[in-house]
Amino acid sequence: MSCKTKPLPIPADAIRAAAERYPTPFHIYDEEGIRANARRLNRAFAWSPGFRNFFAVKACPNPFIMKFLTEEGFGADCSSLPELLLAEATGIKGAAVMFTSNDTPAEEFVKARQMGAIINLDDITHIDFLRRVAGLPDRICLRYNPGPLKDGNAIIGKPEEAKYGFTRDQMLEGYRTLRDYGVKRFGLHTMVASNELDPQYFIDTAGMLFQLAVDVHRELGIVIELINLGGGIGIPYRPDQQEVDLEMVGEGIRDAHERILAGAGLPPVKLCMECGRLVTGPYGCLVTRVRHIKRTYKQYAGLDACMANLMRPALYGAYHHITVIGKEDAPCDQIYDVTGSLCENNDKFAIDRPLPALEPGDLLVIHDAGAHGHAMGFQYNGKLRSAEYLRRPDGRVTMIRRAETVQDYFATLDLERLKTF
Ligand SMILES: *Cc1c(COP(=O)(O)O)cnc(C)c1O
Repeated sequence: MSCKTKPLPIPADAIRAAAERYPTPFHIYDEEGIRANARRLNRAFAWSPGFRNFFAVKACPNPFIMKFLTEEGFGADCSSLPELLLAEATGIKGAAVMFTSNDTPAEEFVKARQMGAIINLDDITHIDFLRRVAGLPDRICLRYNPGPLKDGNAIIGKPEEAKYGFTRDQMLEGYRTLRDYGVKRFGLHTMVASNELDPQYFIDTAGMLFQLAVDVHRELGIVIELINLGGGIGIPYRPDQQEVDLEMVGEGIRDAHERILAGAGLPPVKLCMECGRLVTGPYGCLVTRVRHIKRTYKQYAGLDACMANLMRPALYGAYHHITVIGKEDAPCDQIYDVTGSLCENNDKFAIDRPLPALEPGDLLVIHDAGAHGHAMGFQYNGKLRSAEYLRRPDGRVTMIRRAETVQDYFATLDLERLKTF
């Protein structure tokens, strides 16, 4: 069988050179690719003055990447205190930070207020909670969950099954309450899909939000000034998938904006998004070597990476393409389960994957690991997270996070106390 091919985000020679210099496994990202993609997103919304993507920090919480994204006009979308602190350490604050959390502890609201972040409330009870613990800012955003009014997609699921956001009635009640409390400026947010590849889905979602803004104005006289369309733009993980036509998304949303908002006599809103996956996903990969080949009831290629480096396949059954460096033209005439060393049988990067014949030492690239990859790592089973490298536009490769060591594994333990325990 001939191999399905997918272009590498970084030339094979550069990956091979990095793997000769640095121990595998590691994640490597391409700055130029990420920047070009950020510009593509900005261009799609160039018609909307002040458009901003708040990069979803959880997708790739690395301050080196967050920092150069600010040069492309991006902000940061945070949902926890450590993510807020990371944004602050990167130099991102004020209205360049969107705080979209849920089940939020008081100290996170306090920090978000102190940083001047735009707070996006997840629940109607959080209005009084925020007022009590941190005081209400004069601008606030509410997260909408359309429930049965909108179909969801696989990762987030049906909106009415999702824990996020206000119902429609609660949105109206929430804005009214906030206005009565003296809040002056209002935003509207939703995030109903994840890894969605259909451009129309985003256009329909925007249309739904514009309509809600019209309804809020009609019923309460409140003008929504900021609409956050959330993240969730998907990427083509499979070789036969197409990337989302951002231009079409931008144009479709422009039409809806014109038709619904301008049509109702409302002023233009400030549009924003919180995309993470789209921004870094395709421009990062996991570089790993085959450690052992095992043949029992199936044929296994055991790697030096495991699900602690990339757990999407184990967590969602997600497809990640694999390229074998140096065997790009070899026939894919072998079938492997490609595994890690974690003691869980779902620690597999691929199941029944046609690949060229592999041997120990072969260098593999697991594609599209630039978002929700390293970030999802954990230490279960004593597996340590790998280093992250960045390929700069001039081709230099620089470390942007070191690998964890055994000292990190022990860092939360006080072994002195064990002696007298
Ligand atoms: C996860 C998340 C995002 C980013 O999602 P992507 O699929 O990476 O674009 C944005 N906003 C919120 C609220 C999220 O939970």
